[in-house]
Amino acid sequence: MKSLDQFCQGKLDDMEAKKLRRVLVETDRHGPAKTRRAGKDMISFSCNDYLDLSHHPKVLSAASSALYRYGAGSGASRLVTGNTPLYTQLESKLANFKGSEDAIVFGNGYLTNLGAIPCLVGRDDLVIADELCHACLYAGAHLSRSTFKTFHHNNVNQLAAILESSRTQHPKCMILVDGVYSMDGDRAPVKEIATLAEKYDAWLLIDDAHGLGVVAGGKGSSYVDGNQIPVPLQMGTLSKAIGGYGGYLCASKPVIDFIKTRARSFIYTTGLPPATLAAAIASLELIATDKELVKKPMMHAKLFSNTLGLSEPESCIVPVILGSAEKALEASSALENEGYIVTPIRPPTVAEGTSRLRITFTAEHKEADVLQLAYSLKPFLPEEPIYPFTISS
Ligand SMILES: *Cc1c(COP(=O)(O)O)cnc(C)c1O
Repeated sequence: MKSLDQFCQGKLDDMEAKKLRRVLVETDRHGPAKTRRAGKDMISFSCNDYLDLSHHPKVLSAASSALYRYGAGSGASRLVTGNTPLYTQLESKLANFKGSEDAIVFGNGYLTNLGAIPCLVGRDDLVIADELCHACLYAGAHLSRSTFKTFHHNNVNQLAAILESSRTQHPKCMILVDGVYSMDGDRAPVKEIATLAEKYDAWLLIDDAHGLGVVAGGKGSSYVDGNQIPVPLQMGTLSKAIGGYGGYLCASKPVIDFIKTRARSFIYTTGLPPATLAAAIASLELIATDKELVKKPMMHAKLFSNTLGLSEPESCIVPVILGSAEKALEASSALENEGYIVTPIRPPTVAEGTSRLRITFTAEHKEADVLQLAYSLKPFLPEEPIYPFTISS
């Protein structure tokens, strides 16, 4: 299969020349921030385990009990025999915490969007998404074969214009946004978008992968100023602040019941390992009760941003946009020499010319490390800030 190897090698060489080739680096995590690479202790600022829950003693103990009680794997699809009682517990806890009637847990966040979106809209329908929404929302929308339109990042007026001009041409319509944008750290104007969605009878799905456990006292992006905004489809992951693995969708009972019988990425795949479910249940309990823990990542993001004179962070993800892929690689490797892991983010994950360091803050970081990172990064900041998207009036 010479042509196969030639094809792949050609692509790799091309990426290498553009500084866009990616490689896996073996990393031994002992906590969200405590990490070892190539035998060296490092502090990671590139981890979504915002609350340290992947290593929390209560979470580990719940997971290990479930491992010995139920085994290492679930054995089959949930609709066959893979539905352990832990699923019922986790789903009711999620629904309760998110203020929805019911919930469904999928294999991961990506599979949740791949499964749920095509269940709800199809060929004749319309999907409108924020241009910066996560890759798996794009993938779910494309799988649905609906007409697909995007609006400029967080531009509510443009979304309104699309709804006004196109909504009546389609029987159903979905709006897809992230609650917290994963590469930019800013948040969707959930209240305004929910109002528009209501007005035009469009179904709003918020992907809150980075909101749960961090934003609004841990309740996530559909809570604004202490009030729950009516969002019919609240999606997220169990792999970030929850610290484990899995994806979820919270919605009304009819929506969840329908998705459970229809979503292909739910039906034709094996249930999660029971230990993973038990870990998520324990994590969710900690998020619901430990208010001090939940506050910490945002405090660290604020300290960092204030130290560097950056704008006030809206989440615990702070992007430092450096421009070219080369600049991002250079800054990242300088920081690595000082013992900090800050992975550079390059196209196609972000737009050309907006390569960046995406810095994530966790509860485990020490203030001294946050400050030291800021000082180390300072020489790399561009003179004028680079914006990741078109700033609209
Ligand atoms: C990480 C992420 C996902 C995917 O979740 P996984 O559980 O890792 O598959 C989906 N949406 C957003 C916004 C994310 O950041």
